[in-house]
Amino acid sequence: MRLISYEGNNGPRVAVKVGEAYVDVQQADSRLPANMKQLLALGKEALASLERAAQSAEAIALENIRFSAPVPDPQKVICIGLNYSDHAKESGMEPPPEPVVFNKFPSSVCGHLAPIVLPGLSNQVDYEAELVAIIGTPGRDIPEHSALEHVAGYCCGHDVSARDWQLGKPGKQWLLGKTFDTFAPFGPELVTADEVPDPGNLSIQLRLNGETMQDSTTGQLIFSIAELVAYVSSVCTLLPGDVIFTGTPPGVGMARKPPVFLKPGDAVEVEIGSLGVLENHVVAGN
Ligand code: ZN
Repeated sequence: MRLISYEGNNGPRVAVKVGEAYVDVQQADSRLPANMKQLLALGKEALASLERAAQSAEAIALENIRFSAPVPDPQKVICIGLNYSDHAKESGMEPPPEPVVFNKFPSSVCGHLAPIVLPGLSNQVDYEAELVAIIGTPGRDIPEHSALEHVAGYCCGHDVSARDWQLGKPGKQWLLGKTFDTFAPFGPELVTADEVPDPGNLSIQLRLNGETMQDSTTGQLIFSIAELVAYVSSVCTLLPGDVIFTGTPPGVGMARKPPVFLKPGDAVEVEIGSLGVLENHVVAGN
């Protein structure tokens, strides 16, 4: 099952894919919420009944769809650094013995086809393709063996990173370097976990203006999705709609010789397994 959030007249709404079309969730069942976090909080049975109801409902005209991120307003955007051993190597760092966790603020979230705005304060904005896991069932101290049951679904993500802030500022400002507005595109669709039987075996690619820059598989993850959910939930309660960016494979721009950084006019695509293609275009900011 594939879910999207899209821009309605009064803010983001939720739709479910039926064939090649999308049906607004409230068109399928008026009792359901128009907000992805609230929908995920209702659990898997509500999603199954939504899927049944949507089959006979009227679809939204595709030209009227403007994508938001699948969760436009997550309470937490959690990110994992150095989670592919080859990427740790190209960054000149040892593979970490425990997950390296940082975050982005929700204000950095944007969706499929939204512009990535280059801040005037950075000259080194880099790309990172990442598998994103979205929490459905809340929990604290979630054991690893049942951790995937807390994941509602997956999507493509792009951890846009201002390297001169992340690495060049006093104390290394990972948070600020990763959280400029529009630096957390993810989508286009939330693909429910039942359609992703093994999130640890997905191809992952990033294309910059059509050229493949990253090409790996989530089989190279140092810490699995289940380990990450267990680890983070040992510290804080995970809530429906919380988002985990799970790290990037090798091939990032800063590790290239010469380095490659994003510039206005660039088109970036992230493709992961059968999750779809997340596409964003780069524009100059102030
Ligand atoms: Zn990253």
